[in-house]
Amino acid sequence: MSYLDMKKSLNHPIFQVVSDMVEADDLTAFAIGGYVRDIFLGRPSKDIDIVVLGSGIELAKRVAHKLNIKDIAVYKNFGTAMLHYKDVEVEFVGARRESYRSDSRKPVVENGTLEDDQKRRDFTINAMALCLNKKHYGELTDPFNGLKDLKNRTLRTPLDPQQTFSDDPLRMIRAVRFASQLNFRIGDKTYQAIVANAKRIQIVSNERIMDEVHKILLSPKPSVGLIHMEKTGLLKEFLPEVASLKGVEVREDFKHKDNFLHTAKVVDNVGKMSDKLWLRWAALLHDIGKPPTKRFSKEQGWTFHGHDYVGQKMVPEIFRRLRLPMNEKMKYVRKLVALHLRPIALVDEEVTDSAIRRLLFDAGSDVEDLMLLCEADITSKNDKKVRRYINNFRRVRKKMKEIEEKDRIRNFQPPIKGETIMNTFNIQPGKNVGIIKNAIKEAILDGKISNNYNEAYGFMLEKGKELGLTPVNNRDRQADTSESQE
Ligand code: ATP
Ligand code: MG
Repeated sequence: MSYLDMKKSLNHPIFQVVSDMVEADDLTAFAIGGYVRDIFLGRPSKDIDIVVLGSGIELAKRVAHKLNIKDIAVYKNFGTAMLHYKDVEVEFVGARRESYRSDSRKPVVENGTLEDDQKRRDFTINAMALCLNKKHYGELTDPFNGLKDLKNRTLRTPLDPQQTFSDDPLRMIRAVRFASQLNFRIGDKTYQAIVANAKRIQIVSNERIMDEVHKILLSPKPSVGLIHMEKTGLLKEFLPEVASLKGVEVREDFKHKDNFLHTAKVVDNVGKMSDKLWLRWAALLHDIGKPPTKRFSKEQGWTFHGHDYVGQKMVPEIFRRLRLPMNEKMKYVRKLVALHLRPIALVDEEVTDSAIRRLLFDAGSDVEDLMLLCEADITSKNDKKVRRYINNFRRVRKKMKEIEEKDRIRNFQPPIKGETIMNTFNIQPGKNVGIIKNAIKEAILDGKISNNYNEAYGFMLEKGKELGLTPVNNRDRQADTSESQE
């Protein structure tokens, strides 16, 4: 890219404002980091980093004042300030020198030169700076040959990688993240240093690690990052449940597949069909019940019976440990792990409607995602087998659609409320109400009755009778039509 092109690329309006301001104040400022890298890669970028020889906070405050921006976040401890302008997040920082001491994870920070600031950055491709001062506008400062590494699609640290990774071990995960996001290779020395320092990732908070892992999962081909994490030894430090899927065991002619490589492929497959982060998490965790359930028998070879059940039970603990959200996101992942074998059990020709109803009931509104996961789970190399499975799933989907249209099971609402049961038999809340409600639900799922008020009402009377209850009157039959779903 020529300087002229670069000038054109540095065209976000914020640069003009900063340029005018540093000129007036006799300061020197640069665009630096990911934004500059992405200009060269022709990638869109939503955050801009500006480094100034002097105080980043002061410059940010003055820029905010000029643009009449009230909302500015100042991080005194880090010497940075952030504001939003138009569609981007802009971070200002004073050029600094960082030195780490072996007895502390916190670096000693001093004011520094541009080159000091570039040295403390993670990769050469993230250490390039473009001048914002008028006279040299768009001029590149690239002391570590980031541009060359960009052309060779290689990740390298500006300084000795041992030092860089030991100083801040998160950078190892970032290397893997960029390799996966940008489809870059990791330079040999850099790679070896990750292997040597992988254990040190332990000192980094799980929140920071997860930010990068999310980006790996959302990258175009997540298996690139997952495989790097496994091979370097990083994965087992924070997600041993997935790392231990790695490996193939052979006994008496029986061999099972490498469940880690299979998992990585399933995440890729899901990624081709959906952008949902948590669906990708479900794919990553779907087989974690396999190592603890693995058995060998001379008759069957390797089995993993119950790995769906055991796997889903492991999900909450993993989420808690990794500081992932313990809310409906976790429940969604747990549900998909729990149900991931169910649609496969439905591909038989003679599958009953009731089995499909039960799956619709259990999966609820996530049934579509579950079907995607199951289709992604087919990683056989045997094309004929794959085609047969895909066809079978198509049939299951069709049946699901027909049954759902008829019986509306997905977001099941009981057609008879507890209140109606209590009024009909003049009983207090208690065991019998629950028994009747459950019996109605089961009868609907089994297809004994349809999912509507009248059939459910009749069934309720029968069930009540079995329990020795007598209806006091039939008033509710007419009066309560508001509960009818028809
Ligand atoms: P993204 O596309 O995710 O924004 P990025 O490279 O811009 O990627 P940021 O987290 O926004 O990543 O960081 C901006 C810049 O700050 C990086 O390009 C890099 O120069 C520097 N940086 C960020 N984190 C680290 C770190 N842990 N160690 C060293 N430098 C870092
Ligand atoms: Mg960035």
